[in-house]
Amino acid sequence: MSDDRLIIFDTTLRDGEQSPGASMNLAEKIEIAHALRELGVDVIEAGFPIASPGDFEAVQAVARQVNGPIICGLARCNPVDIDRAWEALRDASRPRIHVFLATSAIHREFKLKMDKDEIIQRAVEGVSRAKGYCDDIEFSPEDAARTELDFLAEVVERALAAGTTTLNIPDTVGYAVPSQYAAAIRHLKKTVRGIDDVVISVHCHNDLGLAVANSLTALKEGARQVECTINGLGERAGNCALEEVVMAAKTRGDFFGLRTTINTKRLHPTSRLVAHVTGIQVQRNKAIVGLNAFAHEAGIHQDGMLKERRTYEIMNPEDVGLPKTQLVLGKHSGRHALRQRVRDLGYHLDDEQLRKVFDSFKALADRKKVVYDADIEALAEAVIHDSPALWTLESFHTSAGTGTLPMAGVALRHADGNRYEDAALGDGPVDALFKTIERITGISVQLRDYQVRSVTVGEDAQGEASIEAEANGRTYRGRGISTDIIEASALAFIQMINRVAMRFPAREDKMRPETARADDSQPTSSAAAS
Ligand SMILES: [Zn+2]
Repeated sequence: MSDDRLIIFDTTLRDGEQSPGASMNLAEKIEIAHALRELGVDVIEAGFPIASPGDFEAVQAVARQVNGPIICGLARCNPVDIDRAWEALRDASRPRIHVFLATSAIHREFKLKMDKDEIIQRAVEGVSRAKGYCDDIEFSPEDAARTELDFLAEVVERALAAGTTTLNIPDTVGYAVPSQYAAAIRHLKKTVRGIDDVVISVHCHNDLGLAVANSLTALKEGARQVECTINGLGERAGNCALEEVVMAAKTRGDFFGLRTTINTKRLHPTSRLVAHVTGIQVQRNKAIVGLNAFAHEAGIHQDGMLKERRTYEIMNPEDVGLPKTQLVLGKHSGRHALRQRVRDLGYHLDDEQLRKVFDSFKALADRKKVVYDADIEALAEAVIHDSPALWTLESFHTSAGTGTLPMAGVALRHADGNRYEDAALGDGPVDALFKTIERITGISVQLRDYQVRSVTVGEDAQGEASIEAEANGRTYRGRGISTDIIEASALAFIQMINRVAMRFPAREDKMRPETARADDSQPTSSAAAS
C-alpha cells in the first residue's frame, strides 16, 4: 500500500453505539453498514460479538451482507472472546479480528490485576490465537496514551512479532494532547522492531475536544489508519469525527499529502442517516455536517461571498453532499423518482420497504403541497425502524384549554392482538397522553428530554417529536413524525416504550392494573374514539 493512503476505520456501529441511548437494532445497523460502504470507508468495525447475542448477530449479518470494506469484530485478549469474534466474522470476504488489552498502570492494577509480564504474555497469546483464524489482525493496547512509553514499546513489539498487522494506539480516555501524542508515536516508530511493516492506527476520544487534533497530528508522524465515527458519535464526549478528519486531510492536502477513498459527497447524507437512526441530532455549529457549517450570516462575509466564494469559504458545500435545493417531490412524482431520491439520501431499502415508503409518501403528498428531503428521510426511517412493535397506537383523544382539566384517552393494540384503553388527567394534553400510555403498558419512565420541532418549512410542515427517557438505569429514545404534533408525541413515546419493553417486559401480574381490555367486536369507549 502506498505511503500517502489514509485508511478510514469506521467504528460507528461498535464504539459509536456506546453513546448513551444510541443503541441500534439489527436492521438499522445493516442500513448504516451499507451507507458506510457507499461512503467508501476501508474498514467497518461492526461490533463486539461476545458482548451480547444482538452484537454477534449484527457482526455476522454485516459480514455476510456488506461486501467491499474489511469487516472487523472486537475481542478482549482471551480465547472465548476471540473464538466468538471469529465465528461472527468467518463469512466476511475480508475479515479482521481486533484484539485489545489494557496496558496502563491504572488498568493493570485496578481492572486486570496483572503485572507487566502477564500483560505481555496475554497479548502474545491473544494475537497468536486470532492469527490462527485470519491474517488481518489488529492489536490495541487499551489506554495506550496513559501507558509508560517503554512498557508500551515492549508490549507492542511482542504483539507485532506474534502476527499483528495493524497496530492501534488508542487514547481511550481522551487524555492526550497533540504534541505529546505525536511524541509517543514518534518514540514507537523509533524503538519498536517491525513497526515499519505494519499500519499504525489511532483511536482518539474527545473528552478534551482534541480527538480530531490528536488523530491528525499522529498522521504527520506516520500513522495511516484513523478510527472514527460518523458525527463523532461515542460514549461521553464521543470519538474522533470521521467527516472532520476526512475533510481536514482533503482540504489541507497541501499539508498532509494524504488521500482517502471516501466519496465526500456522501458525508452529509450518511451523517443525517446516523442522526436519524440514533436520535442523536448534530449540533448546528458542528464542523462539516452541522446545519450552520456553510451558512454565512455576517453582512461583510456575505458581500465577500457574492464577489468570490473563496473569500470566506474553504470548502465547497456540494463537496460534502449538502443538497443544493431542498425542494424535491410532489403529489405527481412517481415511484421511480422516489426510489432515486431515497437512494440519494443514503437509504438502501428493499422492494417491500420501498413500497411502504411510496404508500406513505402518497398519503403525505395528499396532505402537504410539497414533500421535502427531510420528509422523505422521516418516511424511510419509519420503515427501517419498523421492527415488530409490542404496542401500536390505535387512536387517541386529548382535551386541554384554560379553565378545564387536561385529559387524554388512548387505545393501544398489543402484539397479542388485544386492544387496551385507558384515560388520565395531566398537567397538559401531552403529559396526560404520556401518563395514559404508561398506565396501559405498565411501563413507567423518567422523562429526560422532550422536543418538538418542524421537520421542514411551511404551515403544513410535519412535526417531529423526540423523547429521551430513563428506565431501569438505561436511556431510551423515541421519535415520531406527524402533521399533528400531539400525534407525533404519542408515536415518539410509544416507540420509546417499545424499546424499554424489548429489554424489560413489564411483568404480567403488574401490567395494566386498572385498564379496560376491549375486544374488536365490542364498541370502544368514547374516550378512545378520536
Ligand atoms: Zn473507544
